[in-house]
Amino acid sequence: MEGEPKETFVVVDRIRETENVATLKLTLEDGTVPVYAPGQFITVYFPDTHTPEGKAYSMSSMPSDKTLDITVKAIGEFSHRLCGMQSGDTFTASLPYGYFYSELENTDLVMLAAGIGITPFRSMLRCYLKGGTGRKLYLFYSNRTVRDIVFKEELDKLAGDNDNMFMEYHITRQTASAGMVDGRMEADSIFEKVGGKNAEFLLCGSVSFVRDMWRGLRQKNISEELIYTEAFFSQ
Ligand SMILES: Cc1cc2nc3c(=O)[nH]c(=O)nc-3n(C[C@H](O)[C@H](O)[C@H](O)COP(=O)(O)OP(=O)(O)OC[C@H]3O[C@@H](n4cnc5c(N)ncnc54)[C@H](O)[C@@H]3O)c2cc1C
Repeated sequence: MEGEPKETFVVVDRIRETENVATLKLTLEDGTVPVYAPGQFITVYFPDTHTPEGKAYSMSSMPSDKTLDITVKAIGEFSHRLCGMQSGDTFTASLPYGYFYSELENTDLVMLAAGIGITPFRSMLRCYLKGGTGRKLYLFYSNRTVRDIVFKEELDKLAGDNDNMFMEYHITRQTASAGMVDGRMEADSIFEKVGGKNAEFLLCGSVSFVRDMWRGLRQKNISEELIYTEAFFSQ
């Protein structure tokens, strides 16, 4: 973003999550991690690409981690370059910013994710659960195939270890595995499972996913103030 302070980030480690998704574990040059809230993102700059204004990447780590992690799906020129980075490589990025997080304290949090849109929710879930939250946390997570699910092992463990976390996977382009739901997420069935009372809804994924879910929730008379959105892609 024009005028944003820029920092140099160092790649400390790179973890392959799925066939085309990698997590980069980062610090600043002095080995520290900047302050951020789960749900925020950094803007990464590669001035010699077609996008000198940079691209946004949400933190998938939680603020108390030793590294700041971003988890990137390799799709186009920019994300391929980022995914290909190795330990010791550096790049320029903004400090964390953004407003994609719950502003209330005692609500249930209902997180609706599609594909790589899971990244801010991994940060939120780990942070809230580690902090011993009493809030009820729901994650509905949609992917084309089972192999596309990012952080599956970790999410399964979090849901298994915490009575206040409910999770449901949706699979849209193949037959779902046991315990998963076949087909797209629908606001109606989510509403039935969580009820509308005392809940905030956070939506993250492609523009069309976020738009469809937002419309569905509004049709259920969920107030706009209780729906937070982060649209990653224009598709
Ligand atoms: C606030 C914010 C946070 C973001 N956080 C993340 C993050 O945590 N991780 C991450 O990987 N990306 C994230 N993004 C998206 C990221 O900024 C880039 O847009 C993305 O990496 C693609 O850039 P690219 O130049 O490589 O591909 P592009 O050249 O922009 O995309 C190539 C084509 O692929 C399509 N496309 C893009 N993504 C997908 C997809 N997932 N599935 C199907 N088609 C797609 C595009 O519409 C386009 O037609 C975020 C975006 C925003 C706005």
